[in-house]
Amino acid sequence: MFVDSHAHLTSRPVLDHVEEVLQRAEQNQLKAIVNICTNQESLEKGFALAKRHRWIFNAAAATPHDVEEIGETFFPLVAHYAREGRLIAIGETGLDYHYGQSSKAVQKEHLLRYLELAVQTKLPVIFHCREAFADLFQFTQGYQCSAVLHCFTGTLEEAKECLNRGWFISLSGIVTFKASYSLREVAKYVPLDQFMIETDAPFISPQSRRGKMNEPSYIIETAQMIAQVKGVSLEEVGINSTRNAAQFFSFPKHILNV
Ligand SMILES: [Zn+2]
Repeated sequence: MFVDSHAHLTSRPVLDHVEEVLQRAEQNQLKAIVNICTNQESLEKGFALAKRHRWIFNAAAATPHDVEEIGETFFPLVAHYAREGRLIAIGETGLDYHYGQSSKAVQKEHLLRYLELAVQTKLPVIFHCREAFADLFQFTQGYQCSAVLHCFTGTLEEAKECLNRGWFISLSGIVTFKASYSLREVAKYVPLDQFMIETDAPFISPQSRRGKMNEPSYIIETAQMIAQVKGVSLEEVGINSTRNAAQFFSFPKHILNV
């Protein structure tokens, strides 16, 4: 069994095929999907989707890319729904110095706002971090909340620092790419009780599907690679990552009988 800890089901182009995508996910033993909503439209669609499919859960925040454009208008909505108990996590929020679509100062301001909200609502946080780990470690100091590093692409040293803070590391299809030697070192190192798996659909399909739209059912290929580098069975990867995600996101009991 598997949990996709990070997918954008209600953003295009997945949204146009979402029912077929979910059917294939179910056929491939996906027990839950965390749908990441990054603006008002994807959040509203996310609530409708979760109503139809009780195994889909919504998280929301403006991404570090978009905070300059929609940060101010979207934050109050996220805060409202978080306080109403309609979100399972806050995110993805964080810092992205690679693309630099929004200024560093605005990214920081929104990260801190979302962290404050997470502490107030006791929700876990989903971090997006690219080329900004030193600042992420510094800015998050003093906030008591559980966190997962989504689509981790940092170094082994940065992974260790995350793990020391009690954060989870979520591995995506990037771990299957031919050139991802150092990320496979991270996958090998991360303890079985501190990792999750995600697709980040529709982005970054695993190696055998590169160039195609990604979807949750492709998570198996990533899980197989993780099993291979860790020297454990696919079942062990599935059971552990599922249990970790279920505890982290506090899924209702009926979702998994583990
Ligand atoms: Zn994402």
